[in-house]
Amino acid sequence: MPTTNDYRVKPGSKAKLSDWDPENTAGLDREDAEAKLEANRERIAELQYKMYAEGKRALLVIFQAMDAAGKDSTTRHVFKGVNPTGIEVTSFKKPSEEELAHDFLWRIHKAVPARGSIGVFNRSHYEDVLVVRVEDLVPKKVWSRRYELIRAFESQLRQAGTEIVKIYLHISKEQQRRRLLKRITDPKRHWKFNAADFEARAKWDDYREAYEDALAECSTEDAPWHVVPADHKWFRKYLVSEIVREALERIDPKYPGPEIDPAEAMALVERYD
Ligand code: AMP
Ligand code: MG
Repeated sequence: MPTTNDYRVKPGSKAKLSDWDPENTAGLDREDAEAKLEANRERIAELQYKMYAEGKRALLVIFQAMDAAGKDSTTRHVFKGVNPTGIEVTSFKKPSEEELAHDFLWRIHKAVPARGSIGVFNRSHYEDVLVVRVEDLVPKKVWSRRYELIRAFESQLRQAGTEIVKIYLHISKEQQRRRLLKRITDPKRHWKFNAADFEARAKWDDYREAYEDALAECSTEDAPWHVVPADHKWFRKYLVSEIVREALERIDPKYPGPEIDPAEAMALVERYD
């Protein structure tokens, strides 16, 4: 049986994306994976509710990927059953003028989940060593120091009680082509069409190199990266649900006990009845 550990970038190792097959399905069949996804969803909802009640720890799930790899769709499917009060999804776009006037982690820190909550990042501070590097938006001297800043930032979040899960959705260039074309041919997907996606696609190898460095530099024991094969949607959803469920199991939240002795509480009820 495959485990999520098989998809973890071992801290300190080189991350060669060619070692992971985007079409991999770990020998699972689709029906089986869908049943497991369903069970995971329920468990995730249950654990999230407990974590919210406990109010001590938080879970941050970071998604990074090339366009059309399924960041939105995976989020929708995996977190379907979760109480909306305890979850917040943040999509990071091109920084605003105000954001650019601050350090690159400023907007990120403001969006991290509060104790008791799940935060999902659709893109993240990793864009600051990915698109920023590929598009030469700041000098190398600046972006190359960011890996260390990111490790320190994440380690600090961890010490404050936030479990961090980082997921790279690994799509093949051929599969991306098919999905981007659908955005042109399918009227329901027209809104997703963005010419910039094709520009990023043209720089596929540069992005790959930038991703490999980000994964190698920032997969730590505290906050490891996972490479999730993303060509098969059903496998992608299943594997992400496994990774998220396991993270919540590690947090192992507990319902808090009563603040006052139940007998005293009953006495109060009776007194004021
Ligand atoms: P989408 O996720 O399709 O809505 O696109 C968001 C766009 O914002 C992508 O092209 C990202 O590369 C871009 N983006 C996100 N963060 C940054 C950043 N820190 N600097 C520059 N571009 C960014
Ligand atoms: Mg897009």
